Order: sequence, then C-alpha cells, then structure tokens
Amino acid sequence: MTTTRFAPSPTGYLHIGNLRTALMNYLIARKAGGTFILRIDDTDPERSQEKYVDAIKQDMEWLGLHWDRVERQSERLGAYSAAADKLRDIGRFYEAFETPTELDLKRKKQLNMSKPPVYDRAALALSDADKAALRAERGDGVWRFKLDQQRIEWKDGVLGDISIDAASVSDPVLIRGDGQVLYTIASVVDDTEMGVTDVVRGSDHVTNTATQIQIIEALGGTAPRFAHHSLLTGPQGEALSKRLGTLALRDLRAQGVQPMALLSMMARLGSSDPVELRMEMSELVDGFDITRFGSAPTKFDVLDVAPLTARYLQALPLADVSERITALGVPADLAEAFWTVTRDNIATLDDLGAWWTLFSQGADPVVDEEDADFVAQAMTLLPEGPFDGDTWGAWTAAVKEATGRKGRGLFMPLRKALTGQSHGPDMSAVMPLLQVIKAGA
Ligand code: GLU
Repeated sequence: MTTTRFAPSPTGYLHIGNLRTALMNYLIARKAGGTFILRIDDTDPERSQEKYVDAIKQDMEWLGLHWDRVERQSERLGAYSAAADKLRDIGRFYEAFETPTELDLKRKKQLNMSKPPVYDRAALALSDADKAALRAERGDGVWRFKLDQQRIEWKDGVLGDISIDAASVSDPVLIRGDGQVLYTIASVVDDTEMGVTDVVRGSDHVTNTATQIQIIEALGGTAPRFAHHSLLTGPQGEALSKRLGTLALRDLRAQGVQPMALLSMMARLGSSDPVELRMEMSELVDGFDITRFGSAPTKFDVLDVAPLTARYLQALPLADVSERITALGVPADLAEAFWTVTRDNIATLDDLGAWWTLFSQGADPVVDEEDADFVAQAMTLLPEGPFDGDTWGAWTAAVKEATGRKGRGLFMPLRKALTGQSHGPDMSAVMPLLQVIKAGA
C-alpha cells in the first residue's frame, strides 16, 4: 500500500517550502488511497520545541492536509539503537574521533590539492588501543556509516536517472559523540519500519538519499521510491530562505490567504501544467502528477496568491461565509445581499468588516468642489428609506431630470457621495444595504 510521510523537524514554523513537500506527499497518498504519516523529526532535544510541534499540526489542519497518524522520532530511540547495533555487527559502522577543527583542516588541505573534501577514513586504521586512548582523552567518538564505494543509482520521480559515486561522499555520521542519533539513520529506520513507499523531499536531500539507500540496504530493507522536487526561490530567483520570515504559513494565514488558493498554486507551480484554482482538495488529488514537475528552481511570488484568494472567495456560497458575516452584525435578512455585493470587492474576508462599517455607519462622503451643488441638489431628491433594488434607478432618473446631468457625470459624484469611493459594487445592489447616509456634506 502506498505510504508517504511529511517529516518536519519541530525547530521552527512551517514555511512555504515545507508546504510544497507536505502537499506532494499528501496528494500521492490520497491519490493512491494510501496512508499519509506526519512524522515529527525530533531527535535533537536542544533544537526541538513542543510549541513548534503544536504549530505544525495547526498549520497542517488549517491547510486541510489531514494525516492518518503521527509518529515521533523521540519515541523511537530504541529502534535506532537496534539498527546501529546491526550496522556494527555487519562491520559497516565505525567510531571516529576527529574534532570539528581537525576535520576542517583536513577539508582545507584536500581543497588546496583540488581534491573533493571527503572524509579520509583515518579512523578505520585505529587499533582498539588507539581508540581506548582517544576515548579516554576526548570522550566517545562519532559513529560513521562505512559507505560501499560504488555508484549509487536510482530512478528519481522528478530528476530521472540519478547516479552518485559513493567515493565522492563522506561516510555519514549517524550518531554523535554525545549519543544523539542523527536524522539520517532515524529516517531510514522509520521509512523501512513504517512501510514508507514514496519519499518526496527537496533536492537539497539528494546526497542524503544516496547514503540512505546504502544504509537501508545494509539493514536488509528495500529503498522506497524517491522524488526530489526543486527548491523554491523568490520572484527574482533569489534564495527563499532570506525571505522565510515573511513566508511562514501562519503569517500567510493571518494575512487572509485562503488554503485552497495556496494549495492550488503549490500543486502546480514548477510543473508543466498551469496553476488553476481548485475549490476542493479532491480536485487537487485527481489532478496531481509528480512526473510533471521539473528540476529547475521554482520561482514563487507570494503576491500571486492574492488574486487566487480573491477568486476563491468570489466563488464561495453564502453558507461558507455566513458565520463571518453574522459575526460582523449584519442582520440575517441582509446577509445574502451583503455577500452578493461584497464578494467581488474583497481581497480577503477581513475586508468584509470595512464594507459593513460603510453600510451600517455611512461613509465619509467624497464630494469634489465642482460637484458640491449638484450633490446637494441630488440629496434633496433622495427618497425616504428603506431602500430597495429600484431606489438607485429611480433616484438617478429623478436627478437626471432635475439637473440635466447624465452618464459618468451623473453617477460618479453620487457614488462617491454615498460610499466615499470611486469604484465598488453595483449601486443598485448597494442601496438596499445602506443603513445610514452621510452625504451632501
Ligand atoms: N526532517 C527532515 C527535514 O526536514 C526530513 C527530510 C526527509 O524528508 O527525509 O529536512
């Protein structure tokens, strides 16, 4: 059965780049009728925080990316140490004692000699006595996985055929000197034991994947299918990480972005299919195909989400927004008319408040000097309320008759006097909603 996972580390808030990974894994699982796991990668107790675990769940729920189960790496340490024992038993795990400074020095020397900065495996030559002496002096070493120095190959769901020479990669450290299990081994143990069949993640993980394939095989497992999506950049191709502060999902939510607008965009951006607004998650599921995505960095402009949000809102039936509208104090009998009038004139649902303020408290009228007399005269002709759908037509006809004005010169000053704005909804529809008129000032 198809099983995917989204595996954030709870060291910060989810951002737009995480969303892409989460969404792709979610859509693959749902399309196949499989399982989607939310896996919290919290093996680092210093950097992981519970508040981020909660925030990740909230953001996922807001987006509608519902998971079938949650797994936490911090609860699976026993499984990781069993895997480490196995790697030791089969001779693929070795302890190394170099300090970060020593490693740095080695790398610099290699680079000076135009060699790739790959760990030289000096620790493999240590005798038991050497190791005991180093351990006494420096404490426990790190544990490195001994790569089989062959080419590692896989067919990537996005990148196609990949071939990486393991000799060009350092033997990865899987356990730190202080005993902390690192992501690389935790992830493969989880992927294997949880039956993960498809892993989608960013292309920054390609080298990890190469080493993970070898670790999985060393542990007797079968590697899942891998797909590495391109990384997002800003609109000019700049690294997105510089802007992540403004692109946390919770900030977008606070700005009124609608989940389906964001998801519609991210389910297509960077693929050969156009971005199309979808109203339902099921439509995204049906239309998703990871093989349509390209390997080039994907430009993302947060401003492009705004028009999709507006279009999403325009298409919503009253029932989906009636709670918001009632909360503003709009009387039930006006709710339908209010939504019909405002839906095309809002960028986010927060804008509804300003419209209701305008209708219920009256706008500060805008009257150009040359229209002052005209507006004053027109106001004397305004019928008594309550207004209905015919009021605007009847009133403007009477004003036209009395003043001789027509067209824009007739309508625009009246619109500005009543709403304080030079554009907005159809005035015939606005009139019945006007509770107070402060015009003709
Ligand atoms: N916790 C890892 C990350 O956020 C997960 C990578 C993976 O999908 O394996 O980068």
